Amino acid sequence: MTNTSTNRSGPAAHTVGLDIGGTKILGALLDAEGGLVATTRLATELGPDGVVRSAARAVRDVVDAAGLNLSVVGGIGLGIPGIVDARAGTVKHAVNLGVGDELPLAERLSTALGGITVVVENDLNVAAVGAAHLLERGGGADGTPGTGTSASAKHEDLAFLALGTGVASGLVMDGRLRRGVSGAAGEIGHVPVDPAGPDCSCGQRGCIETFVSGTALAAAWPSRHGRPSPVELFEAADAGDAAAVRVRKAFADAVAAAVRLLVLTVDVHYVVLGGGVAQLGRPLLEVVRDSLREQAEASPFLASLGLPARVTLAPMDVPVAAVGAAVLGRRDERDGTGGVRRARPAASAGSPERPVSRPGDGPGTADTGTGPDEDGRPEADTRTEAPAGADTALAGAETEGTLTWRS
Ligand SMILES: [Zn+2]
Repeated sequence: MTNTSTNRSGPAAHTVGLDIGGTKILGALLDAEGGLVATTRLATELGPDGVVRSAARAVRDVVDAAGLNLSVVGGIGLGIPGIVDARAGTVKHAVNLGVGDELPLAERLSTALGGITVVVENDLNVAAVGAAHLLERGGGADGTPGTGTSASAKHEDLAFLALGTGVASGLVMDGRLRRGVSGAAGEIGHVPVDPAGPDCSCGQRGCIETFVSGTALAAAWPSRHGRPSPVELFEAADAGDAAAVRVRKAFADAVAAAVRLLVLTVDVHYVVLGGGVAQLGRPLLEVVRDSLREQAEASPFLASLGLPARVTLAPMDVPVAAVGAAVLGRRDERDGTGGVRRARPAASAGSPERPVSRPGDGPGTADTGTGPDEDGRPEADTRTEAPAGADTALAGAETEGTLTWRS
């Protein structure tokens, strides 16, 4: 693709990012320097019209929350589950959103908002980009990266490991989003690791997802007191329940194995734990690090890779995926991400034509799950807020203009 970016020396406007989930939409407004200005959260209306309508409302809400108006917004990015064609700005098979047939989401939202450029990306990829952006300046929840001593390049090289309903990872490598030729990069949840393991929703057997996901955890330790299963498990283990200790250890070992797989495959600088299960926070991080140390005990090779230090948590006080969507919203035709404006046909430059159908429209679906309601409870509240002292800078995670998928 020819370079069309020479007349666009830098970001010149605010951007809005939305993380559109089955129950809620999280929104983030970034300023021209990539600093987080405001966030919003509101219930998702289902169905194609509902998704467009509630997305438009979220954009207006988050701009209002900052005391600004739409004229300051130079671009909008959306992260959404389903099979996403980033170049065309469309999504289909977003089962949890009531979207089946292909929905020209970018074009319709752009139209609803007076022609602002809109880009669409899958929810996991925006989470990876958001994590890179936030870790750049803010540091991980455990304070390891982002303390000001690390080169920014480190933060632009990570895997976002989403431990949600399913498990999958988004990859930002050398500052670029890695989607893969068929959009399957990072789909480690469906790497079979046990030929005798349980059947997986993807049709294989013994996939990592059957051991590592929130679904697997809930099956191994069903919620007994109405709170999320991971929370109850960790509490019981802390209280000395021997069965809980065993289940937690097995889970930590399985997450550690997924981390090891990611590092041994792409050798990313960080593996960021996200998704609903990662809401456990530091206690999860600690048991995973313990497992990584243990797994490296007999292997000087593994030990030399320093896996425990590479694992961190996604920031929990910020809508990571929405921030990542806003970062992507800064990029339009100049880098081929296929931002769609009203009355401007979507770019159709050469890239893989259609996303492959992904496993996981069903219960095995990975979920960026950056929100706290991973138990799937519907949320009716609408909250809009401007975070105090939020100060993040654009990490500059570049993206390639191709299509994506992921349900
Ligand atoms: Zn599978």
